[in-house]
Amino acid sequence: MTWRQQSPINLHATIRADAPKDYLRLSWSAAVDGFRRDSDHGVAVNFGVTPDKYLELDEKRYHLHQFHFHHPSEHLLDAKTFDAEVHFVHQHLDDLSLAVVGIFLTVDMSLKETKETTALAESFLLAKDAATPVPLKPAWWLPEKRDRIFRYEGSLTTEPYTESVSWIVLPEPKAISPELFKAIFGSHPHEARAIQPHDRRYILDLAVKMVLVK
Ligand SMILES: [Zn+2]
Repeated sequence: MTWRQQSPINLHATIRADAPKDYLRLSWSAAVDGFRRDSDHGVAVNFGVTPDKYLELDEKRYHLHQFHFHHPSEHLLDAKTFDAEVHFVHQHLDDLSLAVVGIFLTVDMSLKETKETTALAESFLLAKDAATPVPLKPAWWLPEKRDRIFRYEGSLTTEPYTESVSWIVLPEPKAISPELFKAIFGSHPHEARAIQPHDRRYILDLAVKMVLVK
């Protein structure tokens, strides 16, 4: 099989445009119970069926399925690597296509722990048995500045590398504390796949007004 649109990529040579109104809506604000699953690819948190958590991309709805981490980042931004990258995987219930939100993470040594980050780090450490839920607000992982997104059509970055993924990558990284970084990345190696060619794809750099719904 010849692959034509693989991920990750170096995000450069992008085309600037304005996203239409309501282009990206995220139902990410309320907490949802996830279950930690560790694998050869690192730490993942699965949600099972979560009909109330979704994203709508250009009016198509995908349900939140799972999120996981890569260390270092898989995507590059103008050839720059970040400390880590989190992928929120959403799936359309009928055609099973995927929409993945990629957020770069940077470790900020000066970042003060808050009650919320300490609880988050603890829940990652406690939830090793995959039976204890990790209550998570997906919206917590969004950086403060989120008025731009990169959009391109790509693939899964692990086997089977299926090319049915609409990628949304935020250029602005989310800063996390060293404690949280250690809680997530301390026990496992995490993989980052090599950069793949753009080929003939358009990489859009969109000015967007992200709509957060509950
Ligand atoms: Zn991933």
